[in-house]
Amino acid sequence: FLVESPNVTYSKDFIEAKYTYSTVHVCKENGVTKVRPCSTRFTFRTGRQVPRLGVMLVGWGGNNGTTVTAAVLANKLGLSWMTKTGRKKANYYGSLLQASTVCLGSGPSGDVYVPFRDLLPMVHPNDIVFDGWDISSLNLAEAMKRAEVLEWPLQEQLWPHMEKMKPRPSIYIPEFIAANQEERADNVLRGSMAEQVEQIRRDIRDFKESSGVDKVIVLWTANTERFCDIVPGLNDTADNLLRAIERGLEVSPSTLFAVASILEGCAYINGSPQNTFVPGAVELAAQRRVFIGGDDFKSGQTKLKSVLVDFLVGAGLKTKSIVSYNHLGNNDGKNLSAPQQFRSKEISKSNVVDDTVQANPVLYGPQDKPDHCVVIKYVPYVGDSKRALDEYTSEIMMGGTNTIVIHNTCEDSLLASPIILDLAILTELCQRITFCTEADPEFQGFHSVLSILSFLCKAPLVPEGTPVVNALFRQRSCIENILRACLGLPPQNHMLLEHKMQ
Ligand code: NAD
Repeated sequence: FLVESPNVTYSKDFIEAKYTYSTVHVCKENGVTKVRPCSTRFTFRTGRQVPRLGVMLVGWGGNNGTTVTAAVLANKLGLSWMTKTGRKKANYYGSLLQASTVCLGSGPSGDVYVPFRDLLPMVHPNDIVFDGWDISSLNLAEAMKRAEVLEWPLQEQLWPHMEKMKPRPSIYIPEFIAANQEERADNVLRGSMAEQVEQIRRDIRDFKESSGVDKVIVLWTANTERFCDIVPGLNDTADNLLRAIERGLEVSPSTLFAVASILEGCAYINGSPQNTFVPGAVELAAQRRVFIGGDDFKSGQTKLKSVLVDFLVGAGLKTKSIVSYNHLGNNDGKNLSAPQQFRSKEISKSNVVDDTVQANPVLYGPQDKPDHCVVIKYVPYVGDSKRALDEYTSEIMMGGTNTIVIHNTCEDSLLASPIILDLAILTELCQRITFCTEADPEFQGFHSVLSILSFLCKAPLVPEGTPVVNALFRQRSCIENILRACLGLPPQNHMLLEHKMQ
């Protein structure tokens, strides 16, 4: 589609849009709350040339790594396979960009919807080239079989393609992940910490050259690590972090990968809950103007929680207790059965309702928040098919109580895989968007902490001092409205005034 507006111009290389950003400023003066609408004139410029994108996965041989690689191959090859309930075809269900739509506006026969991916020029997942690292040496076909996610007739068709893919040796520091992972660690780098980071940097360059991709994005989908202490002099600044690596002090593998990627100018996304982005890593990304994003894919239980509590509190019901049980039997569950790794997940899952609760002082006092308990158990038999059981109890009118119980069963990696694709594709798009304002006419990119990815993350990483938004539909609107702004289109306001007149 083409936007016809005096504010929008299309050239060979760019879509340029002039856009009025309307906000409201609130302040207190002499005891009176003053509310002032304001507006800022922006110009957005989006590069139209879509590059060939390479994605390097840390943990490529895991359930997510193999499933996302297999899913893209199956889509690219147009595969289908028989199951006991009939023939299934490869698709991208669960991907915001590939499988959901946005309303462009209304035409003679009502609202016109287009796939999210058609809003701006974006990489198609079928064109992504994968590579990556794993501490386990199994080729991707064997690793896909180990994952027990995809139906066997599909695995058979994918086998000759996946067999040729082999994860590169990785950085393994046993104390960061559960001891029960040791038996699969047969593909690990040797040498000093600094030498290993150098090797990862060489791997990125080697992949770029040998595959012919224009851009590389690195994404951590390896095991959940324990948290790192933030220690002044060790990881609090970029310089200290680089020095700590030179000296081989305590730096987690996920942070070492982040540093290697940033130094190679590649965006780095963290799909697990640990605090990979210690202050030194965040500073390094800002210095090098490289995007970082995370943390922890928002796939199942937390996604629902960020909708349900938004609904309850938004409807004026006072949610008092949220209890979440999980059991799962995949390798992620095995790793999370160790206390320190579970703790990382527990923290990541726990803060998801904070913004919703804080936004409602009618229901909640300053220290008031719901009881929130998260339990995860490892039950090998259920494999990747994770069970999540949640109980939400809210106070309703006049002392009444409302308890909602939810039982959710589905393959975890089939939820995470489309999120991995969305994260990579959205990050790449953001690398092609620049903007300026009348007050600051020099074009700039987004902040290096890419908070637009919040929709896809359980514990969204945001620039220091800026609000964290967990509520799912606010996060979705943020992406949609920014993309619309790049086309000079107003935000979706859902007012439908034209249908409310006599
Ligand atoms: P998995 O255990 O199947 O895969 C992780 C892979 O990482 C394994 O193959 C392991 O050998 C490898 N690995 C461990 N340490 C490594 C290192 N230092 N370098 C390279 N490889 C390493 O787990 P999964 O189900 O694929 O999940 C991956 C991560 O994503 C986990 O941390 C999980 O908590 C997180 N996550 C998953 C979901 C989901 O829905 N599947 C949602 C949110 C977060």
